[in-house]
Formats: sequence, C-alpha cells, structure tokens
Amino acid sequence: MGKQLQIPDALIDQFGRKVDYIRLSITDRCDFRCVYCMAEDMTFLPRDEVLSLEECARLVKVFVQMGVSKVRITGGEPLVRKNAQWLFEEIGHLPGLKELVVTTNGSQLEQQAAALRQAGVKRINISVDSLNADRFRKITRVGDLNKVLRGIQAAKEAGFDNIKLNSVMMRGINDDEALDLLRFAIDQHIDISYIEEMPLGAVDHQRSDTYVSNAATLKLLQQHYPLVSSTENSGGPARYWRIPGTATRVGFISPHSHNFCESCNRVRITCKGELYLCLGQDHMVELMPLLRNHPYDDQPLVDAIVNSMQIKPKGHDFDLARAQPAVVRFMSVTGG
Ligand code: SAM
Ligand code: SF4
Repeated sequence: MGKQLQIPDALIDQFGRKVDYIRLSITDRCDFRCVYCMAEDMTFLPRDEVLSLEECARLVKVFVQMGVSKVRITGGEPLVRKNAQWLFEEIGHLPGLKELVVTTNGSQLEQQAAALRQAGVKRINISVDSLNADRFRKITRVGDLNKVLRGIQAAKEAGFDNIKLNSVMMRGINDDEALDLLRFAIDQHIDISYIEEMPLGAVDHQRSDTYVSNAATLKLLQQHYPLVSSTENSGGPARYWRIPGTATRVGFISPHSHNFCESCNRVRITCKGELYLCLGQDHMVELMPLLRNHPYDDQPLVDAIVNSMQIKPKGHDFDLARAQPAVVRFMSVTGG
C-alpha cells in the first residue's frame, strides 16, 4: 500500500490570507495578437515545455483538495488548446470546486459554449475592447468581431450563471467606446468590467501614452447612468457598481489605482507550471519538475505548494513611469 497523502485542507499564507482561488493558464498560444498583450511576431513555447492537459487536471485536483474552491482557466486563448474540453469535463464536477470559470477572447465560443456549460463551467469572461469591427481588428491585429459577437450569443443561449465582458481601456485607441460597451452590456443583460492596462511583457507602445484610469472611465459613465457603489467584492482588484433598473454589474479592475493586496486570495499557474504567488512580483515555484519526476506521488507537489505560501508577497509594485515593464513575462503566459 502507498503512503497516505499528507494534505492540509486550507492554504494560508504568512500574512493570514486564505488562498482559495487559482488561475491556470493552459496555453501561451492565441489566435489573436492584442496590442497590449503580445508582440506581433510572438514566439510560442515548445510543446514539451507546456503542461499537458493531464498535468493541468492533476494540479487542479490537488489544489481543490487543499481547499481551493474557485478555478479560472485562462491563457493565451484557452479554447484554442486542442482537447481543452477534456480538461473541463475532468475537473468540472470535482467535489469542493464551487466555481469553474473561463476567460476567453470569444473566438471559439460559437462552437464550444454549450459543451463548456455542460462540463460544469459556471461563469465566463469574454474580452471585447471595441464594437467597431475595423477597430477590433486593429486592437487584436487579426480578430473578427462578428465571430466574437456570435460567440457571446452562443454563451447566452448556453445559460451560464454569469457572463461578463472584459474591456481594456486605452487612451486614443478605444477610450471613446466606454459608454457604447456599457450600453451593449445592458442590452445583452450581461456584466462588464473595465481594465486598466498593466505593464506586463514588452509590447510595441509606451504604456504611459495609452493609460486611462478607471476613475476617468467611471466619471464618464456617471454622466449617463446613475451608478450605485456595490459592496460585492471578489477578493481581487475589482470594485463593482450597479445600475438600478438593469441586470448589469459594472466592475473596475484597477491594479494601479487601488491597493487590493491585503485581501488577495489567489495564485496563478503559468502554462509552464510555474506557481506565481503575485501577478506583479517574480516570486514563483516550479511545479513542472515535481509533476514529471513524481508521476504517481502527489506529496512533493503538495509540500511545494504548502511551502510556497511562505513566499507569497505582501503586495505588488507596478509603476507606469518606469521604462521597463514591471514584469517581463507576458500576460498570455501567466494567465490574465
Ligand atoms: N485570451 C483570453 C482573453 O483575452 O480573454 C484569456 C487570456 S487574456 C491574457 C486575459 C485578460 O487579460 C483579457 O481580458 C485581456 O484583455 C487582459 N490583458 C492582457 N494583457 C493585459 C495588459 N497588459 N493589461 C491589462 N489587461 C491585459
Ligand atoms: Fe490573446 Fe487574450 Fe492576449 Fe488578446 S488578451 S492576445 S486574446 S491572450
């Protein structure tokens, strides 16, 4: 008989924060090349340096046994990974997993939304930065807005508990669309979050040129809608508002303007199996060797995850004025 696995039922860091939320990037690849996220001639990782879907499933199962109740699958574009659906089916109904959510660019949703819902995905975030097809193509460099709009429709028909748009606001690029995006969300009875651009990875533009504060976006929206501050909180960098008489919740994700670190409940795992304890810091633990060197024994993995709690930093450090990105890795590898 094998040894009994020694596994804690909760992950608590050195500042007493409970980690019950993981974001797992299952690929660095993507069918879009958004200007704030990737370079145009992005090189992707060789396949054997990326977690297999079986390794992804094994990681999620271990984290859920350690008290993680929310898992977000992201990327790159998670839905372009071949057989991604297998992973959702494998983890979708794990006991203890309360919320399985996906962040996607929407390009594959028309085909995949119903199967995702069926597998147990409860909520879905769809990134849309413009409702103008030409502009959408410029921002994503290759994306087809109509396909994404059909994907949103398919997601609505699939009956997710919640659908949210994610929109990164950039000055002079799409900040004049903040209101149109909100109107669209209200018409569709879905939520929307505005995201401030983060200095992750080296891209073609100077981030400080395009930075729009969420305070500015909020002020603009308030000229047209009576936004009421809500106490709802995800433990993350988002603050929520409601619009009376509508089903839409409006979120603002402000890594620059607010310090949300004291309530941080999350860690990220890159598609290379690196466990990042903070989006804005370089503290990490490599889980891939533990998965590959111990294919039938989860104990080394469990111990490394438990120990990692001691290096989860107190907070992050983003500074737009800095010439270099705060963190050189790309969001598509780390997972947004
Ligand atoms: N491909 C999927 C998508 O676009 O939704 C999932 C991965 S993407 C990295 C996750 C989220 O991160 C998207 O909403 C995207 O807009 C956002 N994102 C990417 N790079 C960013 C950056 N530098 N600053 C702020 N948000 C960023
Ligand atoms: Fe792809 Fe998402 Fe990055 Fe856009 S934001 S390039 S869709 S990973």
